[in-house]
Amino acid sequence: MTRVTIESAELRLLELPLKFRFETSFGVQTKRTILLLTLRGGGMEGYGEGVMERLPSYREEVVPGAEYLVREVFLPKVLGQSFANPAQLEAALAPFRGNRMAKAIVEMAFWDLWARCLGVPLQSLLGGTRERVPVGVSLGIQPSIETTVDVVERHIAQQYKRIKLKIKPGWDVEPVRAVREAFPDLTMTVDANSAYSLSDARTFAQLDELGLDYIEQPLAYDDLHDHAKLQSLIRTPLCLDESILSAQDARKALTTDAGRVLNVKPARCGGLTESVRIHAVAQSFGVPLWMGGMLEAGVGRAHNIHVASLPGFTKPGDVSSASRYWEHDIVHEALEADQGEMPVPAGAGTGVTLNHDVLKRVTVRSEDFRPS
Ligand SMILES: [Mg+2]
Repeated sequence: MTRVTIESAELRLLELPLKFRFETSFGVQTKRTILLLTLRGGGMEGYGEGVMERLPSYREEVVPGAEYLVREVFLPKVLGQSFANPAQLEAALAPFRGNRMAKAIVEMAFWDLWARCLGVPLQSLLGGTRERVPVGVSLGIQPSIETTVDVVERHIAQQYKRIKLKIKPGWDVEPVRAVREAFPDLTMTVDANSAYSLSDARTFAQLDELGLDYIEQPLAYDDLHDHAKLQSLIRTPLCLDESILSAQDARKALTTDAGRVLNVKPARCGGLTESVRIHAVAQSFGVPLWMGGMLEAGVGRAHNIHVASLPGFTKPGDVSSASRYWEHDIVHEALEADQGEMPVPAGAGTGVTLNHDVLKRVTVRSEDFRPS
């Protein structure tokens, strides 16, 4: 076993403007604030990207909290240390509760570093088998029903394998019905990002008639119980996103029929090690997985594509082309879907390399760390 010593690190804070405004039930995003970590060792570099936002809208974690934990708590635990595998590094951070997105920055950077030191693509260490992964697209809330139908049509033409519409109270049955009427055979899903409660059961009864592949995270971000109740009332499978932080959460959800599809976002769940465990739980229940997205730049997107190559990720994921989101990505490699499929980047680790010209322009601050 190759032990890899973490010799030094660099933590950057980036501000990357989005190409379009992305509206969900949380509000509107026009740029992303991203923590980017480089770990160095054995003559190689590995990269990890944070997905937490500036405000606790999606989950509780926020950029300033994660920046503090990575700088002051996690890096001092791992700098100068050598690990035989990423699970050992994960164990070193395990005494600290929660904060899985912050831990994932370090864990995913180490996976990348470890794989590069071994000279193999990340996917082969994770158990990924596919060379291309099926891709869907997540469309934000549009200003009108007409625009919604137009935007859907444009994305069908781009051969995405599934269209997901963001919904919120007051913007649900009508636009979804209009799209269904325009495209009767479309593989279509909706994502409520926790904007509803059980008292909205009538809305879900109406959505239940619209042939959706699944309804994503309708109820509270920290709830499984009410999701199980809602699932017992409708035929459309529920998909859990925000509610699943670990393999234990997945086991509890699937045991109680709180959902019949799982969205995995590795960075939400503490990184790649836990994602592989969630994959194993879902496989044992015969439940399909798909890869979520948090508007990642190239580093996070590449990690997600490698994980999405595991055999249980049978539904199209939110790993659409980087050029949809960014004028200039932070990596050299173009992560572009082709005919509804995203190729897994070739080469060791994630297979992507940092574009330092772009990084220089979008870096707000950066700091180097060495073992004390
Ligand atoms: Mg979601």
